[in-house]
Amino acid sequence: MAKKKNASEVYYLVCKDCGEANYVTRLKKEHKGLEKKKYCPQTRNQQLHKAKKT
Ligand SMILES: [Zn+2]
Repeated sequence: MAKKKNASEVYYLVCKDCGEANYVTRLKKEHKGLEKKKYCPQTRNQQLHKAKKT
């Protein structure tokens, strides 16, 4: 079986404020350091979430 190039992998989006993994997303490897502003249910606010490998 040939390995797929640029296959997306599953990452958690971890809140930088409270450290909760609030979201799961699929990203390509080159985006592993990605940061996104997302709603955090813990703080009930928009917070930066960092992509972290599952
Ligand atoms: Zn949070």
